Amino acid sequence: MNNKTLIDNLRCIPDFPKKGINFRDVTTLYKNAECMKIMMDELVELYKDKGITKIVGIESRGFILGAALAARLGCGFVMARKPGKLPATVIKESFSKEYGVDTIEMHIDSIEPDDVVLIHDDLLATGGTAKAAYKLVQHFHPKKVFINFIIEITDEGLHGRDEFKGIDLTTLLTI
Ligand code: IMP
Repeated sequence: MNNKTLIDNLRCIPDFPKKGINFRDVTTLYKNAECMKIMMDELVELYKDKGITKIVGIESRGFILGAALAARLGCGFVMARKPGKLPATVIKESFSKEYGVDTIEMHIDSIEPDDVVLIHDDLLATGGTAKAAYKLVQHFHPKKVFINFIIEITDEGLHGRDEFKGIDLTTLLTI
């Protein structure tokens, strides 16, 4: 969609969290009422007719619009969290990131085979984080899995989308 208001409001922080990383700061989209409306309206439009029954938000920025969209679509919301945060039995997946190795976890009872799942996060870079989430979700053998990011980074030699060939993936902004 590449909406101009979203592009104009996205802040870029050079050398965060370490030198050479150009960090896209989505807090400037979340704090802006017009941007929130544009993003939510677009997400509702994209997913209102897909039969989504669960949204999986990736910690932590995937929780924000993921949960809001679940409320709008009338479906459930599930957290994919960093290690040690979820209180009940979990399944886990480790992955490499731009800035090192990480793990995410989901509760073992969070998704059912008759669910239609949308995985949501703020940003796609290498695709490592979302791929780990996708593997976790596949463990439950849901009917179908969709993936969405607010921002897809394609400059800086990143091709995160290539990790998801054949999977229904949307993004609101491509940079
Ligand atoms: P990936 O696993 O390399 O695709 O990185 C995406 C994950 O790292 C997401 O969970 C993002 O929240 C986070 N991330 C990486 N780079 C940025 C950035 O520039 N801005 C905001 N989040 C980022």
